[in-house]
Amino acid sequence: MSPTKEYALLCLENPLLDIQAPGNDELLAKYGLEADNAILAEEKHLGIYEDLLNNYSAKLIAGGGAQNTARGAQYMLPPNSVVYLGGVGDDKYAAILHDAVKQAGLRVEYRVDKKEKTGRCGVVITGHHRSMVTDLGAANHYDLDHLKSPEVWKLVEGATHYFVGGYHLTVCPPAIMALAEEAANNDKSFVFSLSAPFIPIAFKDALDATAPYWDYVIGNESEALSYAEAHGLETKDIKEIAKHLAALPKANKKRERVAIITQGTDPTVVATNGEVNEHAVHAINPSQITDTTGAGDAFAAGFTAGLVAGAPLAQCVDQGQWLAKLSIQELGPSVTARLLGD
Ligand code: ADP
Ligand code: MG
Ligand code: MG
Repeated sequence: MSPTKEYALLCLENPLLDIQAPGNDELLAKYGLEADNAILAEEKHLGIYEDLLNNYSAKLIAGGGAQNTARGAQYMLPPNSVVYLGGVGDDKYAAILHDAVKQAGLRVEYRVDKKEKTGRCGVVITGHHRSMVTDLGAANHYDLDHLKSPEVWKLVEGATHYFVGGYHLTVCPPAIMALAEEAANNDKSFVFSLSAPFIPIAFKDALDATAPYWDYVIGNESEALSYAEAHGLETKDIKEIAKHLAALPKANKKRERVAIITQGTDPTVVATNGEVNEHAVHAINPSQITDTTGAGDAFAAGFTAGLVAGAPLAQCVDQGQWLAKLSIQELGPSVTARLLGD
């Protein structure tokens, strides 16, 4: 891998602690959850975290989509390549996160909120399904003041690549826009993840404001379909949707946009310049799969690490598939922590 600038990659989103446990239909019904979904917690969901910990043998795993991506990218790059920003509380959950990122060699610059708890993501596993319910807590208090503080902004200026998780659109769009504009004005790479199907629907306007700045937009098939629905595209064809994303108006005209849509075991669709290609995933024997949570985060990590190292597009995609394959053989989205001696 070619030498990389210190902290070339800066990532922003919501640091969360995953509270993950095998559940059942009764538990889903109790909190009104669907078997396969990702939602933000309402008042009625808040009891689920203690419930999972006390009654369902839950495991605590460092999570947060882009934080997983940041850890994965750091795993693939030379030391001191990646820095991650987000908001946490001053509690035992934050201590667990600090420990996990330290093991992965990831630098974090958290905004610490003394009054709010670190964000939690309840993950209920039923068979191959996963229901996620997130109480953002302190992550919801990330703000532009933190991003613009002299020490943090220096890291922003020093980075050549930004990765923003779409979940942050529910938290602090001004911080996302500040990174987006910094990228466009200085011809840096801005990588954006669609994150979840509810984002293009419930946060459409905020999402659309970021779109002109996407140099790379990454999503899975459900996110692509929900984008199409929210934007009245008259197609459910993933390749057509990818082409549409790639062709949206662009702020920095020096770079062609690339849209990347993963589809689980089906080939990854890559659109740029009016063309679409498919890239087969790295096949894996189903018996080797431990947990597919975070496959997409790991894909984004391998892909973005490739960009930072200056690899050609096809190789970036291949690196994404490779890291995703590694990640689904481990419990939880924490491939790096485990590989580095957890
Ligand atoms: P998400 O986790 O966001 O739903 P996907 O399910 O599309 O994302 O998975 C992202 C990538 O992870 C895929 O493109 C593929 O490389 C890899 N992957 C996911 N599931 C499998 C699997 N069963 N076998 C091999 N690779 C997989
Ligand atoms: Mg999937
Ligand atoms: Mg995903």
